[in-house]
Amino acid sequence: MPGIKGLFVPGPTNVPEAVRRAVDVPMEDHRAPDMADFMMPLFADLKKIFKTTTGQVFLFPSSGTGAWEAAITNTLNEGDLVLAARFGQFSHLWIDMCQRMGLEVEVIDCEWGTGVPVQKFAERLIEDKAHRIKAVFTTQNETATGVQSDIKGVRKALDAANHPALLFMDGVSSIGSVDFRMEEWGVDLAVSGSQKGFMLPAGLALLGASQKALACQSNAKMRRCYFDFKDMIATNATGYFPYTPPMHMLRGLRASVDLMMQEGLENIFARHHYLASGVRAAVQGWGLDICAKEPKWHSDTVTAIVVPEGHDARQVIARAYERYGLSLGAGLSVVAGKVFRIGHLGDLNELMLMSALGVTEMAMRDVGIPVKAGSGVAAAGEYWRLAKEPLAMAAE
Ligand SMILES: *Cc1c(COP(=O)(O)O)cnc(C)c1O
Repeated sequence: MPGIKGLFVPGPTNVPEAVRRAVDVPMEDHRAPDMADFMMPLFADLKKIFKTTTGQVFLFPSSGTGAWEAAITNTLNEGDLVLAARFGQFSHLWIDMCQRMGLEVEVIDCEWGTGVPVQKFAERLIEDKAHRIKAVFTTQNETATGVQSDIKGVRKALDAANHPALLFMDGVSSIGSVDFRMEEWGVDLAVSGSQKGFMLPAGLALLGASQKALACQSNAKMRRCYFDFKDMIATNATGYFPYTPPMHMLRGLRASVDLMMQEGLENIFARHHYLASGVRAAVQGWGLDICAKEPKWHSDTVTAIVVPEGHDARQVIARAYERYGLSLGAGLSVVAGKVFRIGHLGDLNELMLMSALGVTEMAMRDVGIPVKAGSGVAAAGEYWRLAKEPLAMAAE
């Protein structure tokens, strides 16, 4: 197929040209004497993106799932009770990992389309006078359903109960794209991955750990080796790694962090909100629903669109890809066939999203979903034309 293909899954996201060029480097010596000159400023800048001054940001050569495991094995023990909620495929998978690693997980099952049940967590934490709960697991952005949650609210609930549990947060599809403040919100373990808001290929896990989390290492007896904080802390201190790091990814990360700092985090967050609002306007224009049940759950990085009863979202995805070269995100597990997803995070603007919305509309009509030609594109276009530009939004 001539022309470009459209990548609108919520990760991997589009890699900016500057980052692609930065990744394309000759092999280099990861133990070179000047490695620290490169790594130390990068570690410092990552702390700015995570918004932590006292914590540490680790880089593991793995996908985001590796950082889930690192967070658990370095801080908890088998048999520990942890509190978690399941409301989508990613929150489910982290719970599944906890269980497979021998934690006792108290799961609060929530309707898919809702998010972290802050009130229920608050009640459980107050009840737990003996402090049996060692950690609370949250997902800031549930990528499967397009639901964003109130992590600051979970911190408030922990503080209100005067509860010492660690706060874990999956921020794979949110950190670097929407507001996140590791230190201010008291997040102890913040997980991310390279292929979403960081606009890189998959292959690097980013993990923020607070001083409180780091202090848990000595009592955490779970077996760990590759993901041991101890080896990372010892070598990172001078700008090195305990094993061969993927240098091309680190060069790419340097370039993507530069782009993020040039744009400014607050401007990035405003741009994501602005672009997401246009996508939601398009869905409204089509007369369709999104999976997120209420505006407070709306995700600014991904929208899951519910197809009308009697239609199969998989047909939309197949048609969009095969006929027009557009990749949309699939519905996972409970919502398979019921939703398709448009990822709108990373290196993105109105121009790119307009093409995705236009083609999505065509694919839906091709498979018999009764949306009016031009309805979604018109609604998004009018939203973007008339809304405040992201820079002005961020300035407020
Ligand atoms: C993508 C994603 C993951 C999984 O990350 P991998 O890099 O595929 O291991 C975990 N959680 C959320 C919320 C995600 O969006």
